Amino acid sequence: MEKSEVIALAKKNNLEIDFIDYNIAFRVGNTVAVNEDLLKYDDYCRTTLNHEFRHTSENKFMKKDLAMDIFEGSLITCLFFAFKHPRAFRQFLPFGKYKNKWFIDLNLIIVYGIGLIALCIYLGLAL
Ligand SMILES: [Zn+2]
Repeated sequence: MEKSEVIALAKKNNLEIDFIDYNIAFRVGNTVAVNEDLLKYDDYCRTTLNHEFRHTSENKFMKKDLAMDIFEGSLITCLFFAFKHPRAFRQFLPFGKYKNKWFIDLNLIIVYGIGLIALCIYLGLAL
């Protein structure tokens, strides 16, 4: 995708784009921060943008955002991208820094929590 196309798509959703060189993509208020390398993968870029556009602008915990992060997106695709562009691995940290401000990704903490519980159930009961 071209940068201009990404910016135009965001504008349609009344959002702004900030191109960065780490993570994959995330939403901060009305800004979608996008790893520039993502533009090299047309389909993945479109899917990711569509996901970020539909997140709420709230910087607090929202059920809708959590549901999106649990049920959407493909971990395999994210990992594939991160192995090619290692700075994207920062996306998997449940905290991050954007414009010198730290933030916590509560959704990711919950996702990891669910994963850990599932693993304990599996190891504790199934084996
Ligand atoms: Zn998300």
